[in-house]
Amino acid sequence: MTSDAATLLREHGVHATGQRLAVLRAVSSSPHITAEQVISLAQTQLGAISRQAVYDALGVLVSRGIIRRIQPVGLPALYEDRVADNHHHVVCRICGEVADVDCAVGSTPCLVAANDMGYEIDEAEVAYWGRCPTCQELGRTSTVFDTPTPRRRNHRRATPQQSQSTHQSN
Ligand SMILES: [Zn+2]
Ligand SMILES: [Zn+2]
Repeated sequence: MTSDAATLLREHGVHATGQRLAVLRAVSSSPHITAEQVISLAQTQLGAISRQAVYDALGVLVSRGIIRRIQPVGLPALYEDRVADNHHHVVCRICGEVADVDCAVGSTPCLVAANDMGYEIDEAEVAYWGRCPTCQELGRTSTVFDTPTPRRRNHRRATPQQSQSTHQSN
């Protein structure tokens, strides 16, 4: 996507500001990209753009369906411009690499809820997890990111400002 970015924005009723264009081009430059990567690409392109402006632009683009946001458990949110289909993703448990997987064809019994619990279901989200070819080749077995499995364990977060212990009066 090059100069079409502006057209794409206008087609979706989004005012094509320089910041939004930079963000959209950054997202289009990679199949799946984190907000942090978008920020550094946009900053390279524009010089000065605040983190908040990037997040705002990402939010507008997602809400207008111009880009898609996915968030595999344990990984930062990823943005992509492949929005025409509802494709799935395969995630490497070891290195976190993410790849697209086309929609399954033929019999897909698990995509139809056995019991809809009274909900009007309009989407089934599928995430495949495994080991990518590179990690297989290198024989990597230990994960480099936080959550080694899609099932949440202790839900520990490495935030710097965790609540201090409460017993520190005097
Ligand atoms: Zn891998
Ligand atoms: Zn994708």
